[in-house]
Amino acid sequence: MSAKPRAVRGMNDILPEVAGTWRYLESIVQEIVESYGYAEIRLPLLEYTELFKRSIGEVTDIVEKEMYTFPDRNGESLTLRPEATAGIVRAGMTNGLFHNQKQKLWTSGPMFRYEKPQQGRYRQFYQFDVEAVGYDGPDVDAELIIMSARLWRRLEISKIKLEINSLGTPETRLHYRDALVEYFSGVKNQLDKDSIRRLEQNPLRILDSKNPEMQAIVDAAPIMLDYLDEASAEHFSYLKALLDAAGVAYSVNPRLVRGLDYYSRTVFEWATDALGSQGAVCSGGRYDGLVEKLGGRATPAVGWAMGIERFVALYEACGGEARTNRVDVFIAALGSGTLARAFVLAEELRDSIAGIRVEMNLGGGSFKSQMKRADKSGAEYALLLGEQELADKCIGLKPMRSTDEQKSVALDELVATLAEKLR
Ligand code: ATP
Ligand code: MG
Repeated sequence: MSAKPRAVRGMNDILPEVAGTWRYLESIVQEIVESYGYAEIRLPLLEYTELFKRSIGEVTDIVEKEMYTFPDRNGESLTLRPEATAGIVRAGMTNGLFHNQKQKLWTSGPMFRYEKPQQGRYRQFYQFDVEAVGYDGPDVDAELIIMSARLWRRLEISKIKLEINSLGTPETRLHYRDALVEYFSGVKNQLDKDSIRRLEQNPLRILDSKNPEMQAIVDAAPIMLDYLDEASAEHFSYLKALLDAAGVAYSVNPRLVRGLDYYSRTVFEWATDALGSQGAVCSGGRYDGLVEKLGGRATPAVGWAMGIERFVALYEACGGEARTNRVDVFIAALGSGTLARAFVLAEELRDSIAGIRVEMNLGGGSFKSQMKRADKSGAEYALLLGEQELADKCIGLKPMRSTDEQKSVALDELVATLAEKLR
């Protein structure tokens, strides 16, 4: 016997017992973002590697060590998308969506990063992603945050906190960069290897270090907010005023820099301590320079991405009810001619009662084994069709989730009876 096939490390199967909850939560997010006028866009999983290198930045965790990159049969380098923003911007440019137009878009699906798999961190994971392209803000920055706050409220998710920061403009960052280089050079003998390399290539990334031994040094570094240009400072304080007025609580975390190069001005993160160390659930920011960097006209933009696995886990940690895909009715048929009649009945029910989920007993079996399946199906009611019922033009209706007695219903009253009971 050959060994069982293995799943690829860090890539999960989302089994039916949890897929129901996933679908429920995804439908709520969709409903909410569409209630703010965001429209869906669907994108390829593969892009040319160059796109991610140019947008995310060469000296970032993602591009340095996390991308699934391979040559296709033509020898062109392709990469499985590690995030969605680059693809949305590319699609907008490819299709002329940003010519004298603003776009509010959402997308969702799998992302791929070669990370060390652990709780809340996988190699294929799912994101829900929202982007507003062509908007200066800070009104839209506020709207994106208010929209995510509505999501937590709607689902009674309480164990989550918002942190915000401003990264200023590329020019501000040059000044800040000088200050950082000066500071980190002074403590160079205490830096880890990654940080020493980044000191020359991209000192801001040192602030994003996940190494606990670097924490104290990072904490004492100069603060970006002290270097903000006037326009960015105004943008940031207007954002804070809008959040205050909307009643969205936040704290300013001057160390929040986010792991991608393309951010400018507003950055934010919704994080929880209910999920252990992978606490970032929904992260976002403004990327005013990205479209231009990819060869388009200067176009301001802002967005956020939410990790679905962490979102589902947080929903559960906050007491959210699991949603299973149960059927409403299970039909058992036993005896000559009953199966054919049962199929017709099942179709009639599906025709007449909108949204009803009907499962037929398949593969025969004794009455007892059919009832076991009916129980396992999670159905609210079992319908029992035997030869006697067939002759009497009626059917047995058995409540499966209550102690009510089974009763007999005339076949021509079945639709009305069930419609009433399932209402
Ligand atoms: P982290 O700091 O946890 O590495 P990140 O800054 O890399 O997160 P983003 O690139 O901003 O994350 O992605 C947005 C969201 O996607 C995160 O807030 C998180 O919920 C989720 N996410 C990111 N990487 C993973 C992963 N490997 N597995 C599962 N979810 C992830
Ligand atoms: Mg990361």
